[in-house]
Amino acid sequence: MITLKSQREIELLKQAGNIVYRTHQYLKPYIKEGITTKELDQLAEDFIRSQDATPSFKGYEGFPGTICASINDEVVHGIPGKRKLKNGDIISIDIGACYKGYHGDSAWTYPVGEISDDLKQLLKDTEKALFIGLDQIKPGNRIGDIGAAIEEYAESCHLGVVKELVGHGVGTNVHEDPEVPNYGKRGTGPLLREGMVIAVEPMLNLGEEDIYLMDNDWTIKTDDGLPSAHFEHTVVVTKDGYQILTGE
Ligand code: MG
Ligand code: MG
Repeated sequence: MITLKSQREIELLKQAGNIVYRTHQYLKPYIKEGITTKELDQLAEDFIRSQDATPSFKGYEGFPGTICASINDEVVHGIPGKRKLKNGDIISIDIGACYKGYHGDSAWTYPVGEISDDLKQLLKDTEKALFIGLDQIKPGNRIGDIGAAIEEYAESCHLGVVKELVGHGVGTNVHEDPEVPNYGKRGTGPLLREGMVIAVEPMLNLGEEDIYLMDNDWTIKTDDGLPSAHFEHTVVVTKDGYQILTGE
């Protein structure tokens, strides 16, 4: 069921989203060669709790971390651990925080030190794909308009679009209806209405779109071993467009 949020709920979702945004900003200077993903996870958890919020993902269906930390060919759901970041890596960090019962969800892919031109382009194109998808959001348009725009842009960049994982509604649950795929047909899918809150999150691969689940039952990797990027914002549909909730 898709729910429309009241003004009071949108205010709380904005506060939750802002905590997620500030957690990303807080982590950024620590994303350097030598730090472990577990250390980044602890920094994120401490920061979120210092804001009177709780990590949305910790314990969610048993996920052990506050953040998902996915390096290079890991698409999503990387489990924080002893692995150290290396110069030239990219790391996708997905953060969720719950404030007074409402969630925010945002992912960003960061370079570690100096990265290759191919990786720079992958990050740039995937971030652009997110905003091209968001640009479709206004009452009267449909969920399929978002996915179609992302897919068209990704294809023009010769990037693989991950299909098995999708964006989603956000509210008192971190994952709600509707599903927001990164592919689709214009004019199809649920109608966008003022007060809907959704997370749009393209996951684009430098190579093919195919992925597999690792034997830790969480982490998703690309089949061909090529890197993947992930950019996500939670937004609210407004009277004539959208507003980013996981921002400043
Ligand atoms: Mg996320
Ligand atoms: Mg999400």
